[in-house]
Amino acid sequence: MIAKKTTAKAPSTKRPPVKKLIVGNWKANVEKPAEANNLLKLIRAKAAKSKTAKVVACPSWAFLGMAYAATKGKSSSLVMGVQDVSLYEAGSRTGENIASVAAKLGAAYAIVGHSERRAMGETDEVVARKAARAFEQGMTPIVCVGEADRDAHGLYLGLIKKQVLASLSEIPKSKMSSIVLAYEPVYAIGAKKALEVGDIEQMALYLRKVLVDAFGNEAASVRILYGGSVFPDTARSILHEAGVDGLLIGRASVDAAQFNTIIDCA
Ligand code: PEP
Repeated sequence: MIAKKTTAKAPSTKRPPVKKLIVGNWKANVEKPAEANNLLKLIRAKAAKSKTAKVVACPSWAFLGMAYAATKGKSSSLVMGVQDVSLYEAGSRTGENIASVAAKLGAAYAIVGHSERRAMGETDEVVARKAARAFEQGMTPIVCVGEADRDAHGLYLGLIKKQVLASLSEIPKSKMSSIVLAYEPVYAIGAKKALEVGDIEQMALYLRKVLVDAFGNEAASVRILYGGSVFPDTARSILHEAGVDGLLIGRASVDAAQFNTIIDCA
């Protein structure tokens, strides 16, 4: 008997195309509400047209409500984030920026463990608790890690591994794939130039191995961002040749022309 030819297709092993995540950390570089409004308007218009980028704007807390009102329902390509959250839950916490408040104001992402906060004394344990606070409120934590410098013996790799594992220690293992890890070498932040593409690629590979070894195959899909002096001239090659899923942008995020060009690079 001649075997019937099967017409069933083999399952595809290709990962579906995922939009690049472009996150703008405004820090405290925008002070005036009108300036924030204008920046948001320009970015929103670009994000709405982009088929390849998901854009997150992280203004300071003061502008969060305004930003939410300005973006709500207008474009699913531009979402809001915060630059930090408190370790504490809602209650009598004078002056704290509580995760549940941010979530109710429409923040979908929360940067935690930025090196500028670590420099103020934030430990990995604090970062882990902040990531958990954001996660519990349905936000995606963008957990920042990065070495202060590189030694010739590669000891910084061990330090990064420790930083990653400790900073993620309060996220349930089964949910690990939903977080975002931002690799930001401290010496490249606010500097003249970004790390070389090859160095970023090696670190992205290393971080994926660290994640999979610790949390299993699910963690292979954790989105890894690069941050540190990315401008329009370097964004394209980093986005497409360095094995990362997106960028965390500081200075260039408060210049609409530069940020929008970076969105185009996705
Ligand atoms: C940052 O502070 O996260 C950052 C990436 O800044 P810059 O792009 O200005 O180096």
